[in-house]
Amino acid sequence: MILDKPRTPLRELDWPTPRPRAHEVLIQIRACAVCRTDLHVVDGELPNSKLPLVPGHEIVGIVAARGKNARRFKIGARVGVPWLGWTCGKCKFCRSGRENLCNLAQFTGYTRNGGYAEFTVADERFCFHIPKIYSDVEAAPLLCAGLIGFRSLTKCGDARRLGIYGFGAAAHIIAQVARFQGREVYAFTRRGDLRAQKFAKSLGAAWAGDSETLPPKKLDAAIIFAPVGGLVPLALKALEKGGTVVCGGIHSSDVPSFPYEWLWGERAICSVANLTRRDGDEFFKIAPRVPVRTTVETFPLEQANEVLNRLRAGKIHGAAVLQIG
Ligand SMILES: [Zn+2]
Ligand SMILES: [Zn+2]
Repeated sequence: MILDKPRTPLRELDWPTPRPRAHEVLIQIRACAVCRTDLHVVDGELPNSKLPLVPGHEIVGIVAARGKNARRFKIGARVGVPWLGWTCGKCKFCRSGRENLCNLAQFTGYTRNGGYAEFTVADERFCFHIPKIYSDVEAAPLLCAGLIGFRSLTKCGDARRLGIYGFGAAAHIIAQVARFQGREVYAFTRRGDLRAQKFAKSLGAAWAGDSETLPPKKLDAAIIFAPVGGLVPLALKALEKGGTVVCGGIHSSDVPSFPYEWLWGERAICSVANLTRRDGDEFFKIAPRVPVRTTVETFPLEQANEVLNRLRAGKIHGAAVLQIG
């Protein structure tokens, strides 16, 4: 499924199977989850995407061929491909454990072709082994909702009372990890979204309610997954002194102004950008121990446009996954 131009529907197309370059593997795709970032790319909110583009950056598949220097995975091995597709290894960010900020980074399904397809190529150094307990479909949302959600959670330090704004794919995974770590979860959803609130409670949330309301107790940290800048002051207002608001999305509407008093008391606002391979290694270690279970709705590849529309309308329960082959 190809994006020719932002703000147009994806087009079903046959094109040749790509050939892996030196450090790449050819992957026969089994599943690819659909992330909100895909919407931002398709809707043109993230500029300068590769065009034409195969979107999708939460890929699970089987190694079908290897480039001449690719030896990390055997043919037939199951691998996961995340958003971070390649980094330079030389810039100041890469050299200081912050490859997520690499100046030359390439991103799967954005500046490299991704997983809304039967085959893709990926640099093997940026792929992950997938824990055995997960089926292909269950594992796919772990590759972004899980990984970048986990990086957002890490930014919360040892916060005990954790607010999560926007209870979609990332939240439903990270709530489970947070509970496992002994944190209390407060889930915030679109106004009146009782289904999502019930879902949050079923995953162990201590409280669930509308984003506009204040939680019954002050939060030590809050993660915002919804792409709504207006949530930043709301979350700040719900924070205890010394707390942090972590913005987990790649794109958001503007943050409105708010009284300085809401920030005072050493409250902080930060964003999370991309992921490092270390985030992935740590996440894939902890996920099976929780064990994180993903709730997915599956669709055939040809329905990618419909899935994107449903995600835009907030009509996906848990994570949406394209099941391929
Ligand atoms: Zn770099
Ligand atoms: Zn994503």
